Amino acid sequence: MPAPTMTSDAFVRGEDPTAGIDRPQDLPENLVAGKDALVRVVDRFPMKISPYFLGLVRSADDPLGRQVIPHPAELLDAAGADDPLAEERQSPAPQVLHRYPQRVVFLVSNQCAVHCRFCMRKRRVAGGRQVSAAAIEAGLAYIRGHAEINEVILSGGDPLMLPDGRLFAILQDLRRMAHVRLLRLHTRVPMALPERVTPELAALLSRFHPLYVNLHSNHPGEITVQSAAACGLLADAGIALGSQSVLLGGVNDDAEVLKMLFEGLLAIRVKPYYLHQLDRVPGTAHFQVPLARGLALMDALRGRLSGMAIPHYMIDLPGGGGKVALTPDAIVAKHPTHWRVRNWLGTVYDYPCGDSPKR
Ligand SMILES: *Cc1c(COP(=O)(O)O)cnc(C)c1O
Ligand code: SF4
Repeated sequence: MPAPTMTSDAFVRGEDPTAGIDRPQDLPENLVAGKDALVRVVDRFPMKISPYFLGLVRSADDPLGRQVIPHPAELLDAAGADDPLAEERQSPAPQVLHRYPQRVVFLVSNQCAVHCRFCMRKRRVAGGRQVSAAAIEAGLAYIRGHAEINEVILSGGDPLMLPDGRLFAILQDLRRMAHVRLLRLHTRVPMALPERVTPELAALLSRFHPLYVNLHSNHPGEITVQSAAACGLLADAGIALGSQSVLLGGVNDDAEVLKMLFEGLLAIRVKPYYLHQLDRVPGTAHFQVPLARGLALMDALRGRLSGMAIPHYMIDLPGGGGKVALTPDAIVAKHPTHWRVRNWLGTVYDYPCGDSPKR
């Protein structure tokens, strides 16, 4: 493939697309009360908000503000671990997480459009330093040397914070490895920096099919004319879009909000994929939602909205145990010939469980 000539408008204009508001002093007066307290929070957990996303925030405590504006409660919570999923132990090469046999996560960027206050990878992301070219090369070499890897998930940080040329080079190197069949990209950019999704970027990505994009979105307020247009560009380029959301207290721990979020995503051609239980990192206690509440919310969705709109509710086990999907209990009892199951209205039915195999 020839090298791309495309670059996003922001890069052409010479603006730094990684720039964002990163000091409480620079937030609008109406959004923050005690700025001094927030300066202390930001010393511990850096802040960053794209001008676009800040424009959607009406108050520090609204569902969008809570996600990005530092909160004094962050300093009151030291529970949890900086690396709750033991990712660093499952990292055989600098930017590669290899937990499952056939797929790896490749952390190609430490930059994000916003610093989510609840980020599970704060330890890497919030520092803001770039991933070095040498580290990317080492990651590529690891993937090249492991023929069992058939799927590479570009993540970070946010891979779409890389300039088009860098992204293209990485994707091209991966595509040159015959054993790598699926490419996936995890990003918050469509919801947090939609102007980064240009026709050129969509065309660049479309050269690497099969390529899937899972975007990160937590609240229906993130679905705007701009983010819908960004998703439309990617979908028109033949990219299948999924979403990942995090269940967050005061943001989306409400059946009606989740319904609007998941239906809204489907309407902009994004298939809800995962709803994540929040991982226990320090400074996030004020976002915690009990598992039982999460399951009750999932139960409330089933039957009331399109099956297409319902993601899996996922926990990620501490210490690197991996992901597990939790489902509301449908099986009420198991009998030798039938199981008792409960439908979405709570009515119980008997369902034949199949004959035991003849010996
Ligand atoms: C989440 C995750 C994946 C991807 O899991 P899927 O269930 O395929 O989306 C792969 N590797 C690691 C280390 C992960 O944390
Ligand atoms: S977009 Fe993802 S990686 Fe970036 S700060 Fe938010 S949660 Fe962390």
